[in-house]
Amino acid sequence: MANSGITLTVGVLSERNSAEHRVALDPSATSRLVHSGISVLIEAGCGLDAGFTDQTYETAGATIATRSNVVARCGVLACLSFPPPAVTDELVAGQTIVGLLDPLNNLDVVRALAERGVTVVALELLPRTLSRAQAMDALSSQSSAAGYRAAIVAAEKFGRYLPMMITAAGTAIPAKAIVIGTGVAGLQAIATMKRLGAVVTGYDVREASRTEVESLGAQFLTSSVSAGTGDGGYARPMTAEEQSTQQHELSAALSAFDIIITTAKVPGRTPPLLVSEKTLTSLKPGTVCVDLGASEKGGNVFGSVDETTTTTPTGVVVVGAGNLAADLPSSASLMYGKNITAVIEALAPHGAITIDSADEIHTTIVVSHKGVITNAVVRTAMKLEPLGATEPQKARAN
Ligand code: NAD
Repeated sequence: MANSGITLTVGVLSERNSAEHRVALDPSATSRLVHSGISVLIEAGCGLDAGFTDQTYETAGATIATRSNVVARCGVLACLSFPPPAVTDELVAGQTIVGLLDPLNNLDVVRALAERGVTVVALELLPRTLSRAQAMDALSSQSSAAGYRAAIVAAEKFGRYLPMMITAAGTAIPAKAIVIGTGVAGLQAIATMKRLGAVVTGYDVREASRTEVESLGAQFLTSSVSAGTGDGGYARPMTAEEQSTQQHELSAALSAFDIIITTAKVPGRTPPLLVSEKTLTSLKPGTVCVDLGASEKGGNVFGSVDETTTTTPTGVVVVGAGNLAADLPSSASLMYGKNITAVIEALAPHGAITIDSADEIHTTIVVSHKGVITNAVVRTAMKLEPLGATEPQKARAN
């Protein structure tokens, strides 16, 4: 990164959330930024949950500071998700906040920051199919960690061997697992379940995922509901009728499985309910469901509550796990740090944040800049007029 003489400072805070153990920059990402002339300010102790001590950050060239000092002195605040209001309220014009900020579910915070001239960069909005965007793809890096972890959690909760086991004391048949939703997380869950020895099936409404599932050595469960592949490779939302058909088809199939991992999501929407109340009661006692779709708004499995494990009256274990990447904090932070570094390199190629309105990556991930909500999707969600030809100066962030 060529430096213009301006020293950009990237700040990192402790996420301060009992369910969040990741940190936005690890020491190796810190070192990379420092070598390119960027200063890094780290809140004392923020990497400890992920296994990174303050000393390793100092060795990487960072300065350790208090929380308030980091917020006041950074040009770019790198986070996993939005920090609490005590932090966002302190950000001022010219500062940038970057992370998995879920802008469509945080419109009020985004609006308030935009009004104060803070640049908001949301990594969920990245055009992921662009090859030059792949190093920045935090959704993929974190979904991959979550999918891996889902298989481990399922194995941990399951009361039987996963592989076939022939011993003098008897033979154990292999466990049957199904992964519903075979995007990035689902494929990683399939690969991990296979390595653990289970017999694995994948299910998705995108027919394109069949070959990916089969290439991992798993079977593909066909649905009569087919979403095709929409914009950006995502599934489209199902109609109520399609959702009912899916629930019915899955209800007939799922009682044959011992482990059910669900990862089905549609961007910006509530995750579809695929394992209904009726299906849940038809599952064998001891079946384990790990629901990566679990969220405040509901998940893929009836009654799943994020961050909570429950056992139904019929003995089915339901693990609500909407943020499982946080349970693999060291690996997930290493990957996230690389994503953040790549984003900063793209937005600040000369040592200062410079938004290029001709660059598709900039125009999608930058939600607000210089007081203007610049992202079209977020503008629509806020019921704002599209930025049109009548206001080119406002639209052109620079
Ligand atoms: P996601 O997290 O949005 O959804 C997870 C999975 O749930 C998807 O496979 C989706 O099809 C599935 N799903 C949604 N509704 C469903 C329903 N009702 N029933 C069953 N399954 C349902 O998806 P993702 O993991 O972020 O990836 C989405 C797509 O984007 C995939 O095709 C992936 O390969 C593609 N992708 C491409 C790139 C790239 O080109 N570099 C990068 C990342 C992802």
